[in-house]
Amino acid sequence: MITEIPTSDEFSSAAYAQFDFAWDIVISFMTILDEAGQYIELDKDDQAQFWEAARQRILTSLIIAQQGVELAIKGKLVAFSPYLLLGSPSEWPKDKTGNGIEFSEFKTIDAQDLIKAYNMVSPKPFDTKFVELFERVRKLRNSAMHSVNAKLRISPKEVILIILEAHEHLYPDKSWVMARKEFLFSAPATQVYFDHDHIDGVLVRESWAVFNLLSKSERERFFKVAAGVRKYICPACSYESQKLDGPVPHYAVLDPNTPGSTSLWCFVCNDTHLVSRENCSEETCKGNVISNDDGCCCTCGEQQ
Ligand SMILES: [Zn+2]
Ligand SMILES: [Zn+2]
Repeated sequence: MITEIPTSDEFSSAAYAQFDFAWDIVISFMTILDEAGQYIELDKDDQAQFWEAARQRILTSLIIAQQGVELAIKGKLVAFSPYLLLGSPSEWPKDKTGNGIEFSEFKTIDAQDLIKAYNMVSPKPFDTKFVELFERVRKLRNSAMHSVNAKLRISPKEVILIILEAHEHLYPDKSWVMARKEFLFSAPATQVYFDHDHIDGVLVRESWAVFNLLSKSERERFFKVAAGVRKYICPACSYESQKLDGPVPHYAVLDPNTPGSTSLWCFVCNDTHLVSRENCSEETCKGNVISNDDGCCCTCGEQQ
C-alpha cells in the first residue's frame, strides 16, 4: 500500500512557493540597485559589477524557478492520477514493515518525462511554446546545477520572464500579480506582525520595477496593459507607494480608452478608479484626467 499520497493542490502550493522565492531573489537585487540609484549615480560599469556579484544568486533563482515548474506539472499529473508520477515498479522501494510506504519515498519520473506523461493523459496537451520553454530552462538549470561554468550568465530579466511565461501556461486563470499579492499577504513575516499596511506598497514598488523592465509587448501580454495607450498614475497604488517613499506608479490606463472615458484600470490593484475629465491646474501639465479619489492629476500627480 502507498500512504501519504499528495494532492494536486499540495503540489500547486509547493510550486507557487518556489516561483515566489525565485521572484523574491531577483526582485530584492533590483530593489537594492534602484534604491542605491536614488542616492548615488550608478554608471553602466557599476551596474555590471553589481550583477556580476549577484550572478550565482540569480542562477540559484533560476534553479528554484525550474523546480517550481516541475512541481506545477506534477500537480497537473496528480489531478489525473498520483500514480503517474511513480517510475517503473522494478525501482519501487520494498515494504519491509508491512505498513505501506509513503509516497515521498518513491522516486518520481524524470523531469524530461513529465511533459510526455501529461500530454499522454490530458485531453489538452501543453502548448509547444511551453514545451520549448521547459526544455530551455531545464538545460540551463542542469548546467547551473551540475557544473561551474564561468560563462553561464542569466539576466534578472530572463528569470522574471521565465516565471511570468511559465505561470501563464501553467495557471492561465490567475494573473501573476494577483498570485504574488496573495503570497506577500501570507508570507512568514505577516504571521508575526499585525500591521500589514506596507504590503500593497511593496507590491507597487516591485510591479513598477518589473513594468519598466519589460518591453511594450511583454507588458501587454503579462499585465494586459495595451502598448500604444497613455499611462496614468494609479491613485490607489500611488497612495500605497507613498507610505514607503516608493516610486510614483504610472501604469494605469483609461478603460475604455476613449476621450470621454471616466475610469482608470490598474493591473496591480486590479481595480477601476473614477476620474473627471478636466484640465489640470498646473500650467505645464497637459493632463485632463483627475482622480475623484484624491483630487490629484493622474498625469503629473499635483493636487488640484
Ligand atoms: Zn493601482
Ligand atoms: Zn497635471
